[in-house]
Amino acid sequence: MKPYLLLTPGPLTTTESVKQAMMSDWCTWDADYNEGIVQVIRKELTALASSRPEEYTTVLMQGSGTFSVEAALGSLVRPQDHLLIAANGAYGKRMGSIASYYGIDSHLMKFEETQAVDARVIDEYLSRNPQTTHVAVVHCETTTGILNPLESIAAAVKKHGKILIVDAMSSFGGIPLDMARLGIDALISSANKCVQGVPGFGFVIVRRSRLAQCKGVARSLSLDLYDQWDTMEKGHGKWRFTSPTHVVRAFMQALKELDEEGGIEARHQRYQKNHDTLVAGMRALGFETLLPDALQSSIITSFRYPSQDFDFHDFYQKLKLKGFVIYPGKISQADTFRIGNIGDVHPEDFVRLTEAIREIRK
Ligand SMILES: *Cc1c(COP(=O)(O)O)cnc(C)c1O
Repeated sequence: MKPYLLLTPGPLTTTESVKQAMMSDWCTWDADYNEGIVQVIRKELTALASSRPEEYTTVLMQGSGTFSVEAALGSLVRPQDHLLIAANGAYGKRMGSIASYYGIDSHLMKFEETQAVDARVIDEYLSRNPQTTHVAVVHCETTTGILNPLESIAAAVKKHGKILIVDAMSSFGGIPLDMARLGIDALISSANKCVQGVPGFGFVIVRRSRLAQCKGVARSLSLDLYDQWDTMEKGHGKWRFTSPTHVVRAFMQALKELDEEGGIEARHQRYQKNHDTLVAGMRALGFETLLPDALQSSIITSFRYPSQDFDFHDFYQKLKLKGFVIYPGKISQADTFRIGNIGDVHPEDFVRLTEAIREIRK
């Protein structure tokens, strides 16, 4: 059942019990599913994200993570608003593309891919551009694995009283964070990242009072976050259209396993150990990380090609035969590949991985 471990940024290696949870069929309109699964998930996600859960609500949305980012931007930001997007990688830029598809008045503030988003630059921009209403930023930029300083970014945005939208796709569930304390208005993640479910839906955790003002804002029917919320609230866990029932049931199991592991803090520590084991092993083999340790998240790690003639495709194929699937790089400035530390993977897997790489490189 497990031909290889996925050491990728999602879909991830999941547990047998999460996969087993998909073995029954649920009716998308029945209370067993709506009350017994969907509402439970919504409540648990809100409590995981905020120390004041009563101020927030969670809306589940069909599709991959990008669908939820699009639902959030397209339903919370009106064309006449002004959105600042701070980007230091592909996922930040993707929010820029969404804004242009929707005709949202926006500014894409670009940082180097190997540089963290700088809260001081955001602060300056907001001082000079008081017409700004919303700021969007990626927490962990999966492009490189860089961790953006959410604390200082949120402080700058809140100092100016702006609405903060965070793409925490690859960090939520794997890095502790409190929306209420930081003042985050909307946070987006998906089933197949650090909660360790299987792919098929995303979710937006959002301040109730904000979402309540967004009726009629969406310019897409299927991605209307307000309408999806309204139906889920009034219908006690009803989705407007067919939901990925098996995936949703598996996600409830994944949440249970997150809790059994000791919650987000404990999971974060495991990912950190995975990362540390990986980096120590790779450095011993002569590989260099793209990022300095201070900027690096525990989620995914980028490595430079060890030489100019390094054949990534060949390396990838050989590693796959040994039971590990890794990821190509995604940046233009340097030749890199990436190894994910998230999912049902453990420090001993990274010991085996670096041993496999040693054999390949002999
Ligand atoms: C995975 C990810 C997304 C969503 O990607 P999908 O392919 O649509 O699931 C968005 N932002 C970040 C930071 C991600 O890591």
